Amino acid sequence: MSDTTHRDFWIEVLKALEPNLKRSDFLTWFQHTTVLNKEKNVVTVGFPVVLSRDWAANKYKKELLSAAQSVDPEIKEILYEVDGKLGQGDDARSIDVNKVSEPIKKVRKMPGKEEYMINTDGVRSKTLNPKYTLESYVIGPENRLAHAACMAIAKKPGQAYNPLFVYGGVGLGKTHLLQATGNAIIKHNPRAIVAYMTSEKFMNEIVDAIRNQKAKSFKTKYRNVDCLIIDDIQFLAHKERTQEEFFHTFNELYDANKQIILSADRPPKELRDIKDRLISRFEMGMIVDVQFPDYETRLAILHAKCREYQVLLPADVLEFMAYNVHHSIRELEGVLMQAVAQYELEQSTPTIRSVAKIMKKLNRGGEFAVLDDGREHKSLAKTADDVIDIVADYFKLTKSDITGSVRKKEVLVPRQICMYLIRKELRASFEQIGEEFGRNHTTVMHAVDKIVKMMRKDQRLIRDVNALKQEMGLRFGGEELGW
Ligand code: ADP
Ligand code: MG
Repeated sequence: MSDTTHRDFWIEVLKALEPNLKRSDFLTWFQHTTVLNKEKNVVTVGFPVVLSRDWAANKYKKELLSAAQSVDPEIKEILYEVDGKLGQGDDARSIDVNKVSEPIKKVRKMPGKEEYMINTDGVRSKTLNPKYTLESYVIGPENRLAHAACMAIAKKPGQAYNPLFVYGGVGLGKTHLLQATGNAIIKHNPRAIVAYMTSEKFMNEIVDAIRNQKAKSFKTKYRNVDCLIIDDIQFLAHKERTQEEFFHTFNELYDANKQIILSADRPPKELRDIKDRLISRFEMGMIVDVQFPDYETRLAILHAKCREYQVLLPADVLEFMAYNVHHSIRELEGVLMQAVAQYELEQSTPTIRSVAKIMKKLNRGGEFAVLDDGREHKSLAKTADDVIDIVADYFKLTKSDITGSVRKKEVLVPRQICMYLIRKELRASFEQIGEEFGRNHTTVMHAVDKIVKMMRKDQRLIRDVNALKQEMGLRFGGEELGW
């Protein structure tokens, strides 16, 4: 028997064994093991050290034998040996158990963009990906309304808001919400027929139907659904025949009180090259947007995804990710998945440094405001004290003006800005900031909140804050509108 057949055999045995052991035990005791020999019905297993051999021989004899027998029923006995070369450097014979164990499969199974089970023949509930649920959608101020509308629709399809039009940029959770609503409708009423598709898919069906002279069956098919969900409707631009067909389908469903849910990358009014009469239909119901979530929501999403994928990553690493991703949740998920893959494949816990590398590789480039790893500091302000210095300097005040308790506007606002910056840029907790300023944490919360609100309308404040950020050595975008 060759080494590679031994190897393959052993990998199969390990795979069979793994579910029966605690993962940590499996990783500890079977790391860098191999099959040294396999003859007739006796298998000799090699362990890198005496300790693991003895442990396995004592504790897992039964489990190992039955795992081996599940791969090759002829096997009657297992011998346990030590081979000191195993696990030294890269001995090609020994197996890295991290690579055979379960979570790797989970990584691979993590859903990609277009993995929805869209079947061609019909409009069945099957077209929905069950992973998208309203419960797994993390709510924040930027998507609360959209989520609430979907919840209402899930309870009373066709009655609450019709149509529902969800818009927002790429990777902000539109597809998630749409499919989750479809799933929830079916959960409430398992006999409901929900059709989900992208507008491209819808268009292709129409084109096919026309080409094969099956326009009629197409019509009946869609007019029998209880809920029609069409994702990314902006791609119907210029597709006049499809728009025409959709217009009729829309009207029939609407008149029959069937639910219609649509999404697009912009509000109906701003859609280009879509017929006015369709646009006005889109505007008949409820229009909600989803926006890029704030730091707290992003962090909550990361925590939720970690639970979903059953991985545990250090809190500071998650905070770093949440802090430095600025465009979409898809991007945030991408970074997380890379970090998880690294964790699974290299069995090394991601650090801020390694995640920063991943982000660079994914071309999220640029500067990161790294707060806890001195070597990667881009921010000049590292502590609350630094920020206080910078702010005092900027407003020509003394440090004790900033940290004191005088409530004159000239010092109060800089003090609040200071708290805001420490909170936002150094991610200190309200309690920590409170201690720094000898105040209650609720005072800090109010201060930060006030600055956020003021920044929505006060241009001068925005300029000040941006200038201060620059002083702090931080990058800033042109239009800072709070968080
Ligand atoms: P869009 O359709 O707007 O481009 P998606 O719905 O495909 O975005 O979302 C991208 C990814 O981000 C999905 O995996 C989705 O589950 C996740 N996601 C987006 N927003 C949230 C949220 N609020 N809570 C949990 N996951 C989210
Ligand atoms: Mg989408």
